[in-house]
Amino acid sequence: MIIKSRTVPDELILLKSVRARTKVSEKTENQIISLEKGFIGEKMFDKRMIKLALDYLFINDLLLETNNTHYQIDSLLITQPKIHIFEVKNYEGDYLLDGDCLRLLSGREIKNPLNQLSRSVSLFRQFLQYHRMNFAVEGHLVFINPEFYLYNASPELPIIFPSQLERFIKQLNTQPSRLIGKHHGLANKLLASHIKDSPYSIVPEYSYDKMVKGILCVRCGNGFMVSSDHQHLTSVNCNFVENKESAILRSVKEFSLLFPDKKITTSAIYEWCKVINRQKTIRKVLQENYKHLHLGNSSYFE
Ligand SMILES: [Zn+2]
Repeated sequence: MIIKSRTVPDELILLKSVRARTKVSEKTENQIISLEKGFIGEKMFDKRMIKLALDYLFINDLLLETNNTHYQIDSLLITQPKIHIFEVKNYEGDYLLDGDCLRLLSGREIKNPLNQLSRSVSLFRQFLQYHRMNFAVEGHLVFINPEFYLYNASPELPIIFPSQLERFIKQLNTQPSRLIGKHHGLANKLLASHIKDSPYSIVPEYSYDKMVKGILCVRCGNGFMVSSDHQHLTSVNCNFVENKESAILRSVKEFSLLFPDKKITTSAIYEWCKVINRQKTIRKVLQENYKHLHLGNSSYFE
């Protein structure tokens, strides 16, 4: 059973929103491409893991802190004999493992995900120890892209290549697995320990004033929405149609992701959305979905 499913990372939503509303550097552009690629790889992994047929708990995108250190776990699988930690990489092309270094065949060195994995596994073991829980833990580095090849990889390494994943799942399925209270206890502990506001790596500078206002299309991400009738908006880019309420709610979320310090008020969201003709429409949506708080003469939503 999947108890925490994967969603588009906030960092990616934020960067794409900044890109659609301002001019961004090539570095940010590359950051978006790499985040998108990573997310696609994780979704590919999820799709393959559907074939799991045993009693299990799956937790995706877990961000934990142990000993003042943050670490992200792409996927964590709880089965009776073992806890499996997966680091998923969507690399493409030919790579070479050169001692502790991972290189592209062209020679450029990249961060070795094996180190990232062993760091996560070690911190996770400390997490278990701290909570006085006793489970066997095993980490796996999954290369999900069939167009990936790694030279010099020894069979002892905890790597699962695309052509091995099917057999790995089959092998898991043959294990006896009946989860009991302590497994569910661990899952609950993990969900409660998950950090929602991830400390982003590098976010480009942006300011409210310099941003193009309007409602971005949820489908293409680049186009803005225009009013098509009383209740709907249409993307100028891809003609996607959405009802106003859901578009406004998305914009409120985006607004608070970009500007966590700004208060959500009817006039702020009215200005941010730009294409909604009447403040009344915005107020109604906010009132129905958020808590209305009063502060002296002004009021805002939470
Ligand atoms: Zn669109």
